Amino acid sequence: MKDSVLIVGAGPVGLALALALKGSGLTPTLVDARPAGSENEDQRVLALAHGSRQTLEKLGAWPKTGWTPIEAIHVSQRGGLGRTEIRATEQGLPALGYVCPAATLTRCLAARAAGEGILVEQNCFIESSTANADHITALARDGREFDAQLLACCEGGTGSQETGLIRHDYAQHALIGIVTAQSPHQGVAYERFTPEGPLALLPFGGDFALVWTMSAEEAQRRLALADRAFLAELQNAFGTRARFLAVSGRTSFALALQARLNPVSERKAFLGNAAQTLHPVAGQGFNLALRDVWTLAETLAGAADPGEASLLARYAQARRLDRFSTVGFTDSLVRLFSNDDPLLRHLRGAGLFALDLFAPARKFIARRMIYGARAWP
Ligand SMILES: Cc1cc2nc3c(=O)[nH]c(=O)nc-3n(C[C@H](O)[C@H](O)[C@H](O)COP(=O)(O)OP(=O)(O)OC[C@H]3O[C@@H](n4cnc5c(N)ncnc54)[C@H](O)[C@@H]3O)c2cc1C
Repeated sequence: MKDSVLIVGAGPVGLALALALKGSGLTPTLVDARPAGSENEDQRVLALAHGSRQTLEKLGAWPKTGWTPIEAIHVSQRGGLGRTEIRATEQGLPALGYVCPAATLTRCLAARAAGEGILVEQNCFIESSTANADHITALARDGREFDAQLLACCEGGTGSQETGLIRHDYAQHALIGIVTAQSPHQGVAYERFTPEGPLALLPFGGDFALVWTMSAEEAQRRLALADRAFLAELQNAFGTRARFLAVSGRTSFALALQARLNPVSERKAFLGNAAQTLHPVAGQGFNLALRDVWTLAETLAGAADPGEASLLARYAQARRLDRFSTVGFTDSLVRLFSNDDPLLRHLRGAGLFALDLFAPARKFIARRMIYGARAWP
């Protein structure tokens, strides 16, 4: 029998899509290359926007515990003047966002999917696919074949040879870890722009989750440092707004922008990191993906053939503004703030001062990060 939708990749995006499609009356099948329980190895900590919480609640997959609210975001630059703070209370929200381990989120989505009768076929690596007039056939490495009307590619990346992509190698790595500070964080997230790259500290339980961008060589060197020496360098880059005592779980990720100009092709839709892999500077990757997931499920609701070209084109058009503006916003932040040009440093300082004085601009930025393109008037 032909499945309506085959989802390749049971990461957080594939699982969220399965739940959203089920809610739209379709029958998704999920396959993943990895064995069950692999999500526990994911050390990433995600900042989820308030809008993402609302979507996950609608999917019945908002984790009951394990997340920390972000009550304020403090933005500053190293070696330059200007700072601003965006507060949830000023925006009339309970929180600007929530910090949650990717593994907790994926477990919650997987449990909810299992509760809905959606099972994941593990150890199933899809190697190729062939689209036909009324279906698409996916072939797994072990010889299994799957027929579906639509292939939803949620496999977390794009092939290096693929065309039709915007690509930019930032030549940066994100060094992540958990940092303990002397004083309570009081729900404040810090985004500090340094000439090396952005440094974010997110409130996480009683600690901070660190995302610090730097060159590949510096990431290697800092991963090898003893805790004490590492904390001294972190303190130097961050300044004195918090005093750091301990660090654990250091690891790093290479950072590059890869975004498909068109997130659909014949009987295929690409979502999550397979559609666009972003720099983590503003914590937008999964948040954007969840908005894509929701719109795709809405577009396909009740469709007799979810892989029909006109439906997929409608989805791509509906997501165009939000996808490109989020890619552009994230990319501009990295380029504008990851350098030591004196003129740009002054302009950045002036921008941060202006933002601090001008509440409507802060409101716009907060809404843009929380709701995506829906923030536009
Ligand atoms: C350091 C860092 C910090 C980040 N912080 C944030 C943040 O604060 N907020 C935010 O919104 N986003 C953040 N992101 C981005 C976020 O992590 C990603 O957007 C999200 O994890 C993408 O999920 P995914 O399901 O698309 O991919 P993945 O989580 O990579 O899942 C892909 C799945 O597909 C499977 N797979 C791969 N190939 C195949 C195949 N051929 N056949 C079958 N299965 C296959 C894999 O086994 C895997 O399970 C961050 C990213 C990084 C690197």
